[in-house]
Amino acid sequence: MRIVLVGPPGAGKGTQAVRLAKELNIPHISTGDLFRANISQQTELGKLAKSYMDAGNLVPDEVTIAMAKDRMEQPDAHPGFLLDGFPRNVSQAEALDELLKNEGIKLDAVLDLEVSEDEVVKRIAGRRICRNDSSHVFHVTYTPPKVEGVCDVCGGELYQRDDDSEDTVRTRLEVYHTQTEPIIDYYKAQGLVRTISSLGPVDEVTTRALHALKRDEDDEKK
Ligand code: AMP
Repeated sequence: MRIVLVGPPGAGKGTQAVRLAKELNIPHISTGDLFRANISQQTELGKLAKSYMDAGNLVPDEVTIAMAKDRMEQPDAHPGFLLDGFPRNVSQAEALDELLKNEGIKLDAVLDLEVSEDEVVKRIAGRRICRNDSSHVFHVTYTPPKVEGVCDVCGGELYQRDDDSEDTVRTRLEVYHTQTEPIIDYYKAQGLVRTISSLGPVDEVTTRALHALKRDEDDEKK
């Protein structure tokens, strides 16, 4: 399957992406994670991306699209992939369509995670991420680690993302509404959007998401 995951910051895209990718046996491709890896390796791309990310703005399309394309062309992504955080505006969505068209392939679904703005702020303010592996995500109140500041999975140090500060979150939400939300209509016109609520326990949201995606497969069989 080829899936795009959309939702505001704090909707749980990263958490759900890891689980869905495992369940569906496809790679999880997160442009945010790719940028963060470039930042920690101090590459030129990382240096460029950091200034945009710290301010809560989008990294320019040209470099983002090239990086996403490069990752999607890796052999493990040939059978399918789950895109998390890409595309993030209509021109990236158009670039993705072009790329897929050239390969003779199509998206199967766009999963839209819905959550209220109040909930987003609560989730992000308490979010803590492992320095060793950004898929190990905790929340100081909702899913606290057993030992404060230490990852339950690997013992790594937990930290708050630079762009999870309150001011930056407001900018990221604004960017989401103005630039990313329009891609939902773009994909609705292609009949691809499946909207689910991302409220409630993580397991329940995963089950809901799998149901929504399965409906696609069932529809295809009919
Ligand atoms: P995320 O981890 O998906 O929340 O992304 C963190 C930050 O990385 C975003 O706020 C942007 O600054 C940058 N970023 C991630 N994906 C993209 C994208 N598709 N286009 C532009 N910037 C992106």
